[in-house]
Amino acid sequence: MNDKVVSERVNALLAQMTPEEKAGQLCQFFSFTPNDVAITDEVAAGHVGSILVVRDPAELDRLQHVAVEQSRLGIPLLFGFDVIHGLRTIFPVPIAMAASWDMEIIEAGQVVAAAEARAIGLHWTFAPMVDIARDPRWGRMVEGAGEDPHLGSAVAAAQVRGFQGSAIGEAGRVISGPKHFAGYGAALGGRDYDEAEISDSELRNIYLPPFKAAIDAGAGNIMCAYMTLNGVPATGNHWLITDVLKREWGFTGFTVSDANSAYDLATHNFAKDSADAGVRALNAGLDMEMSLSVKSSCYASLPQSLAVGAVSENTLDDAVRRILAMKFRMGLFENPYVDQTQVNAVLGNPAHRVVAQEAAEKSFVLLRNENKALPLDRTKLGSIAVIGPLADSARDTLGPWVFDHDLAETVTVLQGITDKVGGEMQVAYSPGVTMIPRLNPSFFDALPGLQPAARVEVDDDAEILRAVELANASDCAILVLGEAQNMIGEAASRSSLDLPGRQQDLLEALIATGKPVILLLMSARPLDLKGAAPDAILNIWYPGTQGGAAVANTLFGDAVPGGKLPFNWVRSIGQVPLPYAHMKTHQPKERENRYWNEQGSASYPFGFGLSYATFAYDNLRVSKPVVALGEAITVSVDVTNTGSCAATEVAQLYIHQRYGSAARPVRELKGFKRLTLSPGETQTVEFVLTAKELTYWSAAVRDWVQDETIIDIMVGADSAATLSASFEVRAP
Ligand code: BGC
Repeated sequence: MNDKVVSERVNALLAQMTPEEKAGQLCQFFSFTPNDVAITDEVAAGHVGSILVVRDPAELDRLQHVAVEQSRLGIPLLFGFDVIHGLRTIFPVPIAMAASWDMEIIEAGQVVAAAEARAIGLHWTFAPMVDIARDPRWGRMVEGAGEDPHLGSAVAAAQVRGFQGSAIGEAGRVISGPKHFAGYGAALGGRDYDEAEISDSELRNIYLPPFKAAIDAGAGNIMCAYMTLNGVPATGNHWLITDVLKREWGFTGFTVSDANSAYDLATHNFAKDSADAGVRALNAGLDMEMSLSVKSSCYASLPQSLAVGAVSENTLDDAVRRILAMKFRMGLFENPYVDQTQVNAVLGNPAHRVVAQEAAEKSFVLLRNENKALPLDRTKLGSIAVIGPLADSARDTLGPWVFDHDLAETVTVLQGITDKVGGEMQVAYSPGVTMIPRLNPSFFDALPGLQPAARVEVDDDAEILRAVELANASDCAILVLGEAQNMIGEAASRSSLDLPGRQQDLLEALIATGKPVILLLMSARPLDLKGAAPDAILNIWYPGTQGGAAVANTLFGDAVPGGKLPFNWVRSIGQVPLPYAHMKTHQPKERENRYWNEQGSASYPFGFGLSYATFAYDNLRVSKPVVALGEAITVSVDVTNTGSCAATEVAQLYIHQRYGSAARPVRELKGFKRLTLSPGETQTVEFVLTAKELTYWSAAVRDWVQDETIIDIMVGADSAATLSASFEVRAP
């Protein structure tokens, strides 16, 4: 449907609507129970524009029939849901997907998620989360793409393309709603929901770019954040939502609040009361209110606010137009209902599991591999001990933010290893220790589908001894340690990076056996292993439905790890925050020693990840020594696989500006390329740096600038790359 037709249909409908019906289109409610009478009545009365968290196709269909057949104007509902890393087929958590640095698999994953979501009757996902996260205490870093705006922007765009396709309304796709606008990842102290104080320079250069990239990729929706940003609640922030998002960026989709975050304008002591919160939010540019219940809705009172002139008809109509336009584009007026006959075939599609497994294999990051401990040689192993409280936990393997998964089909690490090599070698198992519960339980633990794994209670001291015995009796120990899925995610901030419970003791006891110990970390934040040094460490994140199968393939060399860290892996909690892209300041050579008690650098730098192969970088060159402002330059480098197996490498390009109108970070990622090389093969990788990559928001000029300067470039396997060259930028 072209823009003209959409706007004619929207205007024709809008002309028939009462203020109550207009306000109704701006109201989104949670519906937790099927056949909820209160919700049904509101839908029939035309007081609801959208519903979230329903995922039963029959209930979605029932509600839609009520909207279309019983409400006066028959406007269909828009159904939204958190389809974050899959619906039935669960993909690795988003940060793991980002660690693949593979935009094709990231897009392909969200194509699968969209297909499953659309099949059950959903139209819209509250994803991707594109918040930059530089503080691993913040649990929601699991939902994003890490600390870097360049990688974050690429990942954001790939996800939007996957969810939505090339235009809103494509068959089998859903509207994508990047979130949380904006700065949510900078929560003070890493405490979820706490305020964010971000300088203009950081906002423009670091926190906003992934949103801009998502919008440029066509995202139809944006979700506003919970917290205050620089003293103004994000959901009531006119500068953010109207000046930047809608005017400066020309965003034509619709905005939605986070759950009750419009009501929170009163909680923040910003709005006087709920009605004032509704007025302030709408006037700031918030189109739809996501509300936990009809009672807590502030948009329900918009008709009265209109009557007294607190909001204008134009403002109200603009919001309604944006939402109706989406419904027309999605084809909901023509096809509102769910075809329940094809749901099982789509959700059960084996091809979806194949993509999920490929994604998991591409996401793993090999952090350590002493004496080529990995891959394991299955011809030489007679027995394996699989140990750890997460080794056989299907629920934890899936990670947070999953609802419609099937635990029975989820392949745990133990299961994956047993399936692969159980027929030819002994596979013994011990949980090793008990996974402790959270001290402060999460409200998510009580939600249907989100319950934590049933805990396997063991006597830790006795079980550690048993695990040691198993390891001693085996040729190799595979340890699966980390955080349970409810220790990371929303409302899962943490003031420590230690392995929870007695896992550290277990790790050290197993290393002390002298047996080869392969540590698989199930984690989405850097964990502090206190210097413990197993033979190999593979970060497997929360790898999803096919996780265990992907792990087994990787352990035995049928898949080669090629993932790279999307964040600096800090040594200890005290270093936080420690972004790789920091400023160069007084006594730069002393930076390693700024804490007198420990080394200043990260354990593993941003972009880091080993392979079973090795790579050499050579012959770095720039296409010209001097470029004019606005002109592009090509950077090339030769990458050779110096190992003995075919493998994938992510070549990374960083820049550093030597001088200019404002100080710039020591290095910033500005390009990356994944390439697969056979042993001995060399490929030349080319990066094009345009004015876009050399432009930044200058705190001194208070605008976007490209400086006349010298740019150093560093190219290599991670953010510690040393191969360098430089070029000059001059006025033409
Ligand atoms: C989260 C959002 C989510 C929403 C709806 C909120 O608590 O912050 O990310 O989309 O709930 O489930």
